[in-house]
Amino acid sequence: MPELPEVEHAARLLRAAIVGHRIARVRVLHPSLRAKLPVADQRRLAGRTVRDVIRRGKHQVIHLADGTALVAHFRMTGDWAIGRVGDERAPYARAELELDDGTRVTLADSRALATLVRTDDPDTVLPVLGPEPDDPALTPASLASTLARRRGAIKPALLDQRVLAGVGNIYAAEALWRARIDPRAGARALDTAQLRRLLAAIRTVLRRAPAGRYQADTATSRWNVYDREGLTCRRCGGTVRRIVQAGRSTYYCPHCQTAGKR
Ligand SMILES: [Zn+2]
Repeated sequence: MPELPEVEHAARLLRAAIVGHRIARVRVLHPSLRAKLPVADQRRLAGRTVRDVIRRGKHQVIHLADGTALVAHFRMTGDWAIGRVGDERAPYARAELELDDGTRVTLADSRALATLVRTDDPDTVLPVLGPEPDDPALTPASLASTLARRRGAIKPALLDQRVLAGVGNIYAAEALWRARIDPRAGARALDTAQLRRLLAAIRTVLRRAPAGRYQADTATSRWNVYDREGLTCRRCGGTVRRIVQAGRSTYYCPHCQTAGKR
């Protein structure tokens, strides 16, 4: 699943390819996507000039010069393939945007769960999202006040997009490891010093994340705890454990992630 750094990278490539250009044609190639972006909406997009591409959480908002927008979400396996009109069709092509300069942007998606939605107002399409992890207004104190309203453990809280926009399962686990915080710790029980460490850890793991396409299999060796159940903790020599929290796997080291432990 693409995490925030991969979506940021994809949005950057898309921005470079399409901003300032006019959409010549939109083609939707998969029935489930056609339900989200019907023919009438495909036609409405044609002729519009792309003003900007903004990432918000894991959403990519393509702002058009007339004030409308196209909102993309990759879900499990989506990605952009950027080429030229007339190139061979990309594998798993679900939709194509052709620009007036001959650029063709393909939404490639093996699972076909990614979405594209045209809207007059992106705010009505985007869910309520918390601050971006790199937002300077996000501080240990602001995080503390958000978490003070939450029941339950810190790890599921970090995955809640209303708490932080775009932090996914891998980076939540890696950040907690880095901050030495027990993922089962109560979200509202963490003190300011622990939250300061956690926020710094989130920013570090996101900054160090590999840019480019997400490849879970090859990336595994880079993680400190994620997907390393039964393996040795790189910091303390303890054994990495896997538990399930809110339906998601959590990997952590019970030996050195003890902050906030109940
Ligand atoms: Zn450890």
